[in-house]
This record gives sequence, C-alpha cells and structure tokens, in this order.
Amino acid sequence: MIQIANLTKRFAGTAVLDGIDLDIEQGEIIVVIGPSGTGKSTLLRCLNFLEHPDAGQLTLGDLQVDVTRASRRDILAARRRTAFVFQNYALFANKTALENIAEGLIIVNRWPKDKAHARAREILERIGLADKADAYPASLSGGQQQRVGIGRAMAAQAEVILFDEPTSSLDPEWVEEVLGLMKQLAAERQTMLVVTHEMGFAQDVADRVVFMEGGRIVEQGPPAQLFQSPQDPRTRDFLRKVL
Ligand code: ATP
Ligand code: MG
Repeated sequence: MIQIANLTKRFAGTAVLDGIDLDIEQGEIIVVIGPSGTGKSTLLRCLNFLEHPDAGQLTLGDLQVDVTRASRRDILAARRRTAFVFQNYALFANKTALENIAEGLIIVNRWPKDKAHARAREILERIGLADKADAYPASLSGGQQQRVGIGRAMAAQAEVILFDEPTSSLDPEWVEEVLGLMKQLAAERQTMLVVTHEMGFAQDVADRVVFMEGGRIVEQGPPAQLFQSPQDPRTRDFLRKVL
C-alpha cells in the first residue's frame, strides 16, 4: 500500500506539486489526467526520487520516509519499491532485450547473472517477446521496445509501477499492444499509477481516475463518475477538450 501525504515540489520558488495527498491500495489501478504542465510527471518522478521532493511523507509498502530527512539508503529503498516506465522507453541501446530486463536485477538487487537472466527469460515469455531475447532496441519496433520497458519494470517486483505517458511516443499502430500488456498487468492486480491521455484505457481499466491541475488534485473518483458527472468546473472544462 502506498500513502502520499502533503507531497510538495518547487521549481524556482513555484510549487509544481502543492501538497499532494493520495493513498493507493495494493492492486489498485490509478490513472492520472490533467493539462500539460500540471505536475503529473513531477508527481511520479518524486515518488521515485528522480526529483527530490521539498516536503511530504511517503509510505511505500513497509518503507516510511519523511522526504526532508531522506537518507541515501531511504532513496535507494524507495527506488526499489517504485518501478518507472518512461515515455521514451529509456532502454540501454548497447544491451539486448534480455540484458535490459536483467540489468536492474544484477545492479540493484545484486542477483547473480544466471539467476537474473533466467528471470528475464520468464518475463520475455510473459510480454510475448521470447523470440527477441537477443535483439537490440534499435531492431525492435516502438511497441516492442516499450514492452521491454514494461518488462524491466515487472522484473523489479516493485510495490507500484509508475507509467509516465507510456504510449505517447508510439506510432499509432503500436499503441494497442502496449495498452494490452498494461491491461494484462492490471488483470493480475499489479498496483499501477498511470499518467496517460488514453481515456479509453482509463475508462476500461482504472479503479480510480485522478484529475490534477496546478500541482493539486482537483477531483478523483471511479472513471464512470469522473467522466460522466465531474463536479468541478475545471474537470468539466478539461474533459470537454479531451473526450
Ligand atoms: P505534460 O502533460 O506536458 O507532460 P506534466 O503535468 O507532466 O505535463 P510536469 O512535467 O510535471 O507537468 O511539469 C510541471 C511544471 O514543472 C511545468 O511548469 C514544468 O515546466 C516544471 N518543471 C518540470 N521539471 C522541471 C525542472 N527539472 N526544472 C524546472 N522546472 C520544471
Ligand atoms: Mg508529463
């Protein structure tokens, strides 16, 4: 279970995250939506300490951190509990699909190479890329590269997988296969926090949709409620533009 309390991040004095409170149950699928520049990526990046938050408390499974007092060890522990899927995949170009998935297990979890490679092969089966184990990213389609990116996150066995617009860089033809893999994970009740513009995915898969604007959570609820009867005028305005 994940608890985010009063999470705050300022850039040059401006609060980009302005006291975010959000609890996520184990197995819950949350989709975050909102206008550009509203702090969605920053929220995900702060959970993983890709950005260091300025204030707040985080509970990530058995780890509790006051971010203002986070030690190097807390930060590494937080990173182990939060796996990240990037818009641009962020794969190592000089490593194969198998090595990309195994890398974190070897470096972060200090698994021996054989064990990490065996786990990576299992993951490649699950993501439908067993035959691409030895392929380098440049020889894979965008959809396949992003499936490797998701496979790497799956391998980490984190408390939550954070997805930052995982299909936004893809040619339209590859979007469905990536959303399909995310739906498969959702059906397995992998806890997920997903920033996306794919409203169909939010409607079908999310347990809860969170609407953010100006560094704050304006409104949240089950997709049917949020999409069909939004309460806040800012939510209504945003949905009118995207739906
Ligand atoms: P988008 O939908 O366009 O991806 P977003 O909701 O993910 O937007 P963020 O990327 O979190 O928004 O950015 C929120 C605000 O913080 C923006 O005004 C952005 O310019 C600013 N910002 C983000 N990262 C930094 C940084 N490293 N340094 C300074 N400002 C930043
Ligand atoms: Mg963003």
